[in-house]
Amino acid sequence: MDLVVTNLSKTYSNGVRALNDITLQIPKGMFGLLGPNGAGKSSLMRTIATLQEPDSGSIMLGDIDVLKQKEDVRKILGYLPQEFGLYPNLSAENILDHFAVLKGITNTKERNEQVKALLGRTNLYDVRKKNVGGYSGGMKQRLGIAIALLGNPKLIIVDEPTAGLDPTERYRFLNLLGEIGENIVVILSTHIVEDVRELCSNMAIIAKGNVLLSGTPDDVVNDLRGKIWKQRIEKSELAAMMQSHKVISANLVAGKPLVHVYADEQPGELFTQSEPNLEDVYFNEMHKAANKQQVEA
Ligand code: ADP
Repeated sequence: MDLVVTNLSKTYSNGVRALNDITLQIPKGMFGLLGPNGAGKSSLMRTIATLQEPDSGSIMLGDIDVLKQKEDVRKILGYLPQEFGLYPNLSAENILDHFAVLKGITNTKERNEQVKALLGRTNLYDVRKKNVGGYSGGMKQRLGIAIALLGNPKLIIVDEPTAGLDPTERYRFLNLLGEIGENIVVILSTHIVEDVRELCSNMAIIAKGNVLLSGTPDDVVNDLRGKIWKQRIEKSELAAMMQSHKVISANLVAGKPLVHVYADEQPGELFTQSEPNLEDVYFNEMHKAANKQQVEA
């Protein structure tokens, strides 16, 4: 069951055009929606999750018209928003049980079984009776995903779930998502390139409400093969380098900038060719989008 978004647009009442004619084909598996803050990721996620209306466009999940058949979507949707509150004085077990009732799992035996299974799956079983007020950020996120998984959803949407997690918790959370994503559509919105590289079979990059690129991570990286060049320079040379070349990134390595430059041919004899990676793809798209804007301004 694919999710197909067609020509979706949304302008908020303050005039911000958050979604600008978005078209995306999202197949089964993990789909990474990558973009900087303000790109429109949450707006798109909330619209797919039936929580807000677009101005125009359509969204189909298999043969369900998402914008019209909201109740049908909600039955098969698990949504983990960017921020969510949990009653601090309740235990994970109580909270999950409560949400299971809301999800319509009224049979007590079935509900208990599902709650228990999800606590196990998210590694919270041993702490299920503890108040969630004492949980770490990672534990809260795992409880959030357990809530999203209630009722065996066919579509899962997780909005920036790894922001603020320490590396161990992030790894654990991504592994959990990866397991879930094998059989259903999972959309992971993030501004962290590694989240997508490590996990997603398909992806799109969006910025300022526009889809800049979509495809498999391998394909989009391959498209840059032979075009990324690197050189370590002095910090004092960086400004001039940015004037004269298409510098797409300049990460400090042991205190000195390692610049990555986009060029069809070797841009200077001190440059060596660099194996492209997803970060190059992302920064190249950001660079192109910023230039386009300058030209238009
Ligand atoms: P992201 O999730 O990628 O950070 P958002 O969808 O939250 O992006 O925001 C996209 C743009 O829309 C931003 O410029 C943001 O300030 C604006 N925006 C988001 N929600 C609203 C809203 N309810 N009203 C007005 N502007 C909004």
